[in-house]
Amino acid sequence: MYRWPNNTVVYNMDSPPFERSEIDLVERSLKAIEDVTCVKFVKRTDEDYFVNLTANSGCSSQVGYQTKFQNGPQILNLSRQGCLYTGTIIHEFLHTLGFYHSQSAPNRDNYVTINWENIQKGKENNFVKYGANSVTDFDIEYDLLSIMHYGAFYFSANLEPTIVPHDSAFKELIGQRKGLSEKDIARINKMYNCN
Ligand SMILES: [Zn+2]
Repeated sequence: MYRWPNNTVVYNMDSPPFERSEIDLVERSLKAIEDVTCVKFVKRTDEDYFVNLTANSGCSSQVGYQTKFQNGPQILNLSRQGCLYTGTIIHEFLHTLGFYHSQSAPNRDNYVTINWENIQKGKENNFVKYGANSVTDFDIEYDLLSIMHYGAFYFSANLEPTIVPHDSAFKELIGQRKGLSEKDIARINKMYNCN
């Protein structure tokens, strides 16, 4: 778990490849995180280390502050087709802050069932559990409403669910990408020692 120093993520987002309206959307999305936490996002000026936004295919981000492990900037990729939505932007920046997917938590089997037989062949690695030292819940309970939780049909091979919550009331609620949940906010504030 590698936190960004001074609660501050330094990022770079160039135009091109992004359009001005897309940069504005990212700024508004980051403000939604700043409004409820002590984390700050600042645009790179001359900082040596930062996260660089790229526009290749798919939506992805490296997890946590990666400076010890590489020479160039770390990457957060947002395809201009399919990733430029507030919820997706927040999700990817939470990876950048250091958060893994909710269902990677070591205690996830107490809350959800993974239907391995419904997962696309070769995509099973997206459903592995990580050790307690990489997925830290900061004493906050498993969160089916997290913006970091997969939806029920992610990587489905057959239109059948790959993840089924034990509490059926959450069947259609997992995978929300509207915004941070209460527990997402609490977890960020704990990880970054906000008051
Ligand atoms: Zn993700």
